Amino acid sequence: MSTASRVLVLNSGSSSVKYQLLEMAGPSPTTTLDGGAARRIDTDGSRTASGIVERIGESDGVADHAAALRQVAEELAARGLGLDSPQLAAVGHRVVHGGTRFTEPTLITDEVVAEIEKLVPLAPLHNPANITGIKVARALRPDLPQVAVFDTAFHSTMPEAAARYAVDVATADRYGIRRYGFHGTSHAYVSRAAAALVGKEPAEANVIVLHLGNGASASAVRGGVCVDTSMGLTPLEGLVMGTRSGDLDPAVVFHLARVAGMATEDIDGLLNKRSGLLGLCGDNDMREIGRRMAEGDEAAQLAFDVYVHRLRKYVGAYCAVLGRVDVIAFTAGVGENSAAVREAALRGLEPLGIEIDAVRNAVRGSAARLVSPPAGRVAVAVVPTDEEMEIARQAYSLVRTSSHSVREG
Ligand code: AMP
Repeated sequence: MSTASRVLVLNSGSSSVKYQLLEMAGPSPTTTLDGGAARRIDTDGSRTASGIVERIGESDGVADHAAALRQVAEELAARGLGLDSPQLAAVGHRVVHGGTRFTEPTLITDEVVAEIEKLVPLAPLHNPANITGIKVARALRPDLPQVAVFDTAFHSTMPEAAARYAVDVATADRYGIRRYGFHGTSHAYVSRAAAALVGKEPAEANVIVLHLGNGASASAVRGGVCVDTSMGLTPLEGLVMGTRSGDLDPAVVFHLARVAGMATEDIDGLLNKRSGLLGLCGDNDMREIGRRMAEGDEAAQLAFDVYVHRLRKYVGAYCAVLGRVDVIAFTAGVGENSAAVREAALRGLEPLGIEIDAVRNAVRGSAARLVSPPAGRVAVAVVPTDEEMEIARQAYSLVRTSSHSVREG
């Protein structure tokens, strides 16, 4: 039996290539051997993976994704962790959009790459960068199993009632218009970890996950299965985010086109890059907004209030979707670090059994922890997310299963 037990996780985003090399012992990775990021020319505000050592400079010297990936390979080789190592079991690639075609981690073949290419219209910014990462990594190690792990996959279990928009069915089906959801690896990881924190198996726990980073999304997870999420056809729907508006009346788009004479690309840019917290107050970093609020800045206060109001609405909605809620889990940059957002979002929800303990909430730390009172009916948790670990776990488990079935088949 092969002793290969390492997985290289690659996240080829629109503006950077991030990587982590994980040593797997059994089904869960235990050690991060190395990690880093090669940043590319343009900036898109894509998520910085937590816990990563930024060893490859923040330089703008990397021309494109292919060069960035080759640089990653060289960096790893220089530390004796090269891609040619026999200990490498697989490469796990984060792929943003899997459409309805990919609902599971998938072993990459030429046919799979072609199918991911067909999904580019659904994720024009992200999927092309993911595909480049896959192609370069396959060229470097054609013999190595490479696995695509999709951001949308965890949400593919949503019932039609949650996944359908109420638009003409023929038009929707023809153009793939439905709710896919994103941040799936984070929602999967955090919902499982939150269940463990209250001593339950995932199958026994109903969890609301609030992934609040620069991008933000909520999900309702019943017994380990996602039944609703706030992002939709694209990551624009749902919560107020760093630079995205989240939910709005779709007629805003027609109005801007007709009355302001704006082109589709301009409206796209406005709603994705110049809205949300940034559009409301000129800052998209919650730390800066907190500082400004403390000085009595009204625009910052308004941005915070709009953000928190939307969040509370989703918590209430997902309580109704789930019926019984065991845990509400906060994660990602804002969710893990902002006690003020957690407190404000859940304030006044005591009639729903939801309470925060001010002392526990104020404690900072990097471990998963409860911030609700010991006797609270609904546990409230802070659970640091780890998307790389989840991608590694899924890729490794697929490679192990397929090598078993090949041997036994
Ligand atoms: P992420 O996309 O998960 O890396 O989250 C990035 C966002 O987290 C930043 O834009 C900040 O708004 C927020 N953030 C990070 N650290 C803190 C902190 N200590 N307090 C409040 N917000 C924070």
